[in-house]
Amino acid sequence: MTFEQMNLDKNIIQALHTLGYEKPLPVQEKVIPNILSGTDCIVKSRTGSGKTASFAIPIIQNLEIDERSPQALVLTPTRELALQIQQDFDRIGTFKKIKTLPIFGKQPFKFQKEDLKQRCHVVIGTPGRVLDHLQQETLDPSKIKYVVLDEADEMLNMGFIETVQKIFFRLPKNASVCMFSATLPQEIQELAHDFLKQAEVVEIESQTSVSEQMHHYAYRLKEHEKPQALLKLLCRELPESCIIFAKT
Ligand code: AMP
Repeated sequence: MTFEQMNLDKNIIQALHTLGYEKPLPVQEKVIPNILSGTDCIVKSRTGSGKTASFAIPIIQNLEIDERSPQALVLTPTRELALQIQQDFDRIGTFKKIKTLPIFGKQPFKFQKEDLKQRCHVVIGTPGRVLDHLQQETLDPSKIKYVVLDEADEMLNMGFIETVQKIFFRLPKNASVCMFSATLPQEIQELAHDFLKQAEVVEIESQTSVSEQMHHYAYRLKEHEKPQALLKLLCRELPESCIIFAKT
């Protein structure tokens, strides 16, 4: 399967090519069609599998660009993950000109409140601060049609499950929900039972992550191909810092 066969907008295909995503990864092949058709899903998959793009691509595809209120809410356990997810949305949605907003604690509430008054398509946040904004009515949930729970088991470990439940009670009942979790403990299954509708369960076998694949790939490169491949890898991963090991 190719991204073109998924009937995605040209501006998304163009962004994916710019990012060097040549074809969908296994998690994307399974999850993108589900989200595009509005089917709720529970995805058992780990970081590094390409899961962020598996929800960002179909959500961006179905965003109405002229709508001012948020249409998608992504809940994630940490501020670092929120920023990482925002970056992925921004890169994939760059030619569609989507607006994203990260919302997390330890940042002034009043600035976020001002940002939330502007046009924004996707809010990516940690549960506590998102609930605060919903309770204070500074985040309008009425147009939300996609909810993503990222790293649900981590949110459970960090004691966020009750907050997530409170958030759900304030969201439109017909929103599509997609839950990502490396493991599915009892509490996560109960959460899915309470808030997901006839969910498709997608299980991606434990596989090597993209960076691990790249690492293996490097061994098969010819000497003269290495600088270009390294440049491509750095452009794609954009690490804040990295260590490059060389023979001499
Ligand atoms: P994630 O599991 O979302 O953290 O993604 C892991 C890495 O896979 C990220 O660096 C992405 O940029 C990369 N990635 C996502 N989708 C693709 C794809 N279709 N082809 C190549 N790399 C991808």
